[in-house]
Amino acid sequence: MKHWVLFIINFLYIFNTEAFFLTSKQNDHINALIFSHDPMLLETDSSYAQQYFFNAAFKFPLLLQYAEKHTLPVIFLCPTQFDNVGPLDKNAYTTEGARVALAWASAYIRFRNSDIRIILMPTEKKSLIQLPHLVNPSLNKIIHQTNVPEINVENRMFFLNDLVYENENSYNFQNIIERFSLESDNSKVLKVIPKNKQSENLKRVAITGGAGFIGSHLVKKLLDLNYYVIALDSFLCCNKENIKPLLKYKNFEFHEIDVTQPYDIEGNLDAIIHLASVPSPQYYYKLPFETLATGLHGTKNALDLALRKNARFVFASSSEVYGDPEISPQTEDYPGNANPWGMRSQYDQSKRGGETLCKWYFDNYGLDIRIARIFNTYGPGMNLHDGRVVTNFIAAALDRKPMVIYGSGNQTRSFSFITNTIEQLLILLENNEIAKAQLIQERVFNIGNDEEFTINEVAIKLNKIIEKYLGYLVSINHIEQIDPTDPKKRKPCLNRIKKLGFNSTITLSQGLEEMFIFFGK
Ligand code: UDP
Repeated sequence: MKHWVLFIINFLYIFNTEAFFLTSKQNDHINALIFSHDPMLLETDSSYAQQYFFNAAFKFPLLLQYAEKHTLPVIFLCPTQFDNVGPLDKNAYTTEGARVALAWASAYIRFRNSDIRIILMPTEKKSLIQLPHLVNPSLNKIIHQTNVPEINVENRMFFLNDLVYENENSYNFQNIIERFSLESDNSKVLKVIPKNKQSENLKRVAITGGAGFIGSHLVKKLLDLNYYVIALDSFLCCNKENIKPLLKYKNFEFHEIDVTQPYDIEGNLDAIIHLASVPSPQYYYKLPFETLATGLHGTKNALDLALRKNARFVFASSSEVYGDPEISPQTEDYPGNANPWGMRSQYDQSKRGGETLCKWYFDNYGLDIRIARIFNTYGPGMNLHDGRVVTNFIAAALDRKPMVIYGSGNQTRSFSFITNTIEQLLILLENNEIAKAQLIQERVFNIGNDEEFTINEVAIKLNKIIEKYLGYLVSINHIEQIDPTDPKKRKPCLNRIKKLGFNSTITLSQGLEEMFIFFGK
């Protein structure tokens, strides 16, 4: 019979304070890694909860990598109270900590078939001392289940109360020694050296994701307004063509870098706009690790830069933080209904976790942060093959192929034309009233258009435009929805941004026509 040693990575340990591990009485071989926490301390806004969030976002993936390299199972003791709390709420460090850890675990399970067992901890308070005794026998049982049949995250989830308690006496409970390091290599900080380190009388703005669809439109707008713009992008999901027309501007420069790695920009900066993201479902379904890294590591790097430069910070979050909402329209204080381990979890948690990081920098340093929850945006300059509904429909129609609707087509979205989205982002960048807001919850704004359409209606509207310009109609086909977490409705409440002066709205019919003319040329 094998004797198991359970090495508890209590994440206090990583900060060299306190931790424990469990050894068998017979040997000290490591057979599993455990990501744990003290539930007593988590239910507060404490520094422990803040560390837990950072550990979940940044250390847990390193633990998962380590486990994969050494073929070790990972046991994640997960708090169960992670619903009904928004990413900027008081308890967000705890809840988003659990949620980002679930998203990382889900990505490793779904994409690498990693051996991760998620134990949902009961809600009643248990101290750390009680925890291993409670969990240990159950873990022993789970570890012995060597074949987990399907790559399905739910199959790897266990409720602690459902597990059988056995064989308690074969374990010791000891203080931990540092067995391996879970530090990422931050020694290599890329130095970005601007052509112009100073720009007399011009405001200097750095934009991550500056070559993307929204990024390149925003850069253009800022250049026309005479900002000095330093754009960064890795071209992971966008086309180099987007920035070519911008290179002729004297007040523009571009640097090709991966913003998930530490970097610094020499010279001063007045503002940083963090737009970099894996943008559409088609990309983030395939790139879960890059998606989480851009929202977590990328946001942290950009916030660190803002801190060093004492710069204003705009974070491009997303309507996806609301998940599959139960209320409509969605107001900024709605905590959302996002599944932290579903097909969209890598994206949803990259944005929710990114917001909680903003909260941390606001709570701890008072950084002048503004969060934009951007709803579906469309317009000229999109990648026609990015898999989004409007581009897919236009690409199909131009090829005289059917527009394909996933599911019933009764799901709704609210589509904002790119110029309207840019106007709203500009308000967030420039408005000085926001700087007075004392609460991070007052610094978050829905960005979009509040007209709501079913996907069926979008197809019909576009068909009318196709008929007007091309003289034919394409058929509309329905196929099965592959994403069970696809939101059923989405419509922003725009009261907040309207209070700051946004009042122009381009209708979907006008915007679709303009977009069609652009792509149909
Ligand atoms: N959709 C569709 N056909 C397509 C692409 C998308 O029916 O060719 C649906 C998709 O399932 C979703 C909605 O259209 O319900 C919007 O999808 P999109 O990928 O544009 O963005 P999302 O709002 O889902 O992030």
